[in-house]
Amino acid sequence: MSTPHVGGDAPRTDGDEAEETDLVVVGAGPTGLFAAYYAGFRGLTVAVVDSLPELGGQVTAMYPEKQILDVAGFPSIKGRDLVAGLVEQAATAKPTYVLGRTATTLTTDDGGITLGLDDGTAVRGRALLITAGIGTFTARHLPAGEGWLGKGLDFFVPSFAPYAGKDVVVVGGGDSALDWAIHLEPLADSVTLVHRRAQFRAHENSVARLRASSARIITDAEVTELRGDSWLAEVDVAHDGTTETLPAQQLVAALGFVADLGPIQQWGITTQKRHIVVDDTMATNLPRVYAAGDVTDHPGKVRLIAVGFGEAATAVNNLVPVIHPGAHVFPGHSSEGS
Ligand SMILES: Cc1cc2nc3c(=O)[nH]c(=O)nc-3n(C[C@H](O)[C@H](O)[C@H](O)COP(=O)(O)OP(=O)(O)OC[C@H]3O[C@@H](n4cnc5c(N)ncnc54)[C@H](O)[C@@H]3O)c2cc1C
Repeated sequence: MSTPHVGGDAPRTDGDEAEETDLVVVGAGPTGLFAAYYAGFRGLTVAVVDSLPELGGQVTAMYPEKQILDVAGFPSIKGRDLVAGLVEQAATAKPTYVLGRTATTLTTDDGGITLGLDDGTAVRGRALLITAGIGTFTARHLPAGEGWLGKGLDFFVPSFAPYAGKDVVVVGGGDSALDWAIHLEPLADSVTLVHRRAQFRAHENSVARLRASSARIITDAEVTELRGDSWLAEVDVAHDGTTETLPAQQLVAALGFVADLGPIQQWGITTQKRHIVVDDTMATNLPRVYAAGDVTDHPGKVRLIAVGFGEAATAVNNLVPVIHPGAHVFPGHSSEGS
């Protein structure tokens, strides 16, 4: 078995020899990161695999600048700050992060599990926790934007600063498109929202806020061409039977994303409508394989960060006696060791 490389800016564990990890986690979203902390708290070694190059799952990829209002203990916290806190907390477990790699195959045996990755490497563990959220997600592409990614075209807005003083065109009619247009309007030179329909899918409040701002809204319209030398300079927008050219140094194509549980559905795990069925302990139908967070399905399931945290704690604590027979499920109180 080859040793997977530890990628990204995350803490790393060096070493040429592959060592068996107690717990392998698939998915470095909020649930996987909190699970990594808990694994460390329970004395387990842990490796976390994610197909994205950065930690934080949906939060980092889709809304790092948004305020989250429903994480217990934080009346309001920016997405990226929540992830930073989770990463700091997880660091106590000294996790091995395997980023930019998709888990493609799973084999289980009496002693543990082997997870095959898309680069041909594999990770061996004594148990597996799947915190894969909605699966791997990729942005829906803007047909006219072919070849412009990284040259003025973005699918996500990870930070607002690069848009300051620019002419920005945002394409889309959903919550992300409207949110980004609203947030960029005060700092950009101009913001134009281009939507191919007359009706928006976004929250009414967002539509009202954008209409009340200086942003221009063009509906029943389509971006048909991007132009510029080495960087985007202008875009063509077809609407009302004509084509208008707008100055644009930045274009955000917020057309949604395609989520794919993909290979996980081939692992022999019982799923229901692209979610993994778990019992009260977060165990799946496969031995030594548990799941937590958005990816799970059970009666009363609610897909929220707060719920993922609870499920991570339940899963890891119930996994401990599986890895170390005779160990207790209840971890004791963390405050007792402080
Ligand atoms: C715009 C938006 C706003 C939101 N606002 C809130 C909010 O205010 N409050 C709230 O509670 N929730 C909110 N949510 C939902 C919240 O983000 C999710 O509930 C949360 O991210 C779930 O965390 P998770 O760790 O279970 O999964 P995810 O965050 O989806 O992370 C799963 C990770 O698994 C990885 N992965 C999947 N399959 C594989 C594979 N085969 N191999 C390797 N890696 C894999 C993915 O790349 C991903 O990084 C919001 C969601 C969106 C899109």
